[in-house]
Amino acid sequence: MGTLDFLSAYEKGSLLNRTADRREFLRFCGRMTVLLGLSQSAISRVVAALEGAVQQHRPSVIWLEFQDCAGNTESFTRANAPSVAEAVLESISLDYHETLMAAAGDRAEQARHEALEANRGNLIVVVEGSIPTKEEGVYCTIGGKTALQIVKEIEPYAMAFVAVGTCASFGGLPQANPNPTGAVALEDIIQTRPVINLPGCPANPDVLMGVLVHYLVFGRLPEVDAQKRPLFAYGKRIHDTCERRPHYDAGQFALAFDDYGAREGYCLYKLGCKGPQTYNICAAWRWNSSASWPVKAGHPCIGCSERQFWDRFTPFYERLPEVGGFGVEERADTVGGAVVGLTAAAVAAHAAYTAMVKKAEKKAEETALSESEEDSVES
Ligand code: SF4
Repeated sequence: MGTLDFLSAYEKGSLLNRTADRREFLRFCGRMTVLLGLSQSAISRVVAALEGAVQQHRPSVIWLEFQDCAGNTESFTRANAPSVAEAVLESISLDYHETLMAAAGDRAEQARHEALEANRGNLIVVVEGSIPTKEEGVYCTIGGKTALQIVKEIEPYAMAFVAVGTCASFGGLPQANPNPTGAVALEDIIQTRPVINLPGCPANPDVLMGVLVHYLVFGRLPEVDAQKRPLFAYGKRIHDTCERRPHYDAGQFALAFDDYGAREGYCLYKLGCKGPQTYNICAAWRWNSSASWPVKAGHPCIGCSERQFWDRFTPFYERLPEVGGFGVEERADTVGGAVVGLTAAAVAAHAAYTAMVKKAEKKAEETALSESEEDSVES
């Protein structure tokens, strides 16, 4: 078995060739170009890489789920628009995914085995969920094997691993005190292959797509920080790109969820926001076609993409002055009407992304237009 059975649902015709969806595909390429921080001129390179992957050899991807809630799978399958997920799914060969695949039991195990043998050394392995190690890992077994055994068995076949979500990246909720299953992160197990972490509860699906697209375009994983997170998505704190930042700098804070400040969009720091300690792209890129994100909707950031967030950042609705690594507490109370230099950048971040995405999509649409004109001339 090659690609997952569920993909056959998409086989009404290739997204890259369906005229109506061709434009959406090119717009997707434009958005990915912006997300990855590439110049507008790179759009054609992104288009060529995705088309080349479809027409020549789609890299094989295996998606493993261990101690998790399947939230990253849910997030990925609900990415912006169905056609966006299709674009990536047509560019890779998703050969194994327990939650999505139609096959079960021996047939599913066989699919994984065949994908391993056919793609030795070239596999991208996406892992969702933490890995239990207590009692030799018996707290998570699939097909009679522990998660620990499965990961170690697959390691020699992999080109690289992508830990999607906080559980796989850092241990997440299963690892929270008292960690009854001895849960660890993927990076604690894998010794011989690169691991890239995409923390978040769940990770932004566009970021996962960005990693896959980066691999398709450049043949390698994107640049990462010391915690193995891609810099294009985790290079800035949420606090630095949050639209409520001007209120923070002006000393304007909501003190209750239904008070005047909350209604006016004031800063949520005093309601427990962990944005100053959290690195992620939520504020700038947002979710669901950039429609919104938790802080915009009125809920403080809970720092879900940080290490040990459950132990370090609870209770979520209280300020935690003992949280290390950031000296914001004093300033939040004393800053008054002072304006710091980051304000303008914070306000501009999402607007800048939006403008760049619009420009890239327009350029991609122009490409689509010139293609259809060329086609009509040829015919
Ligand atoms: S503390 Fe939270 S709500 Fe306030 S500016 Fe920072 S990220 Fe935004």
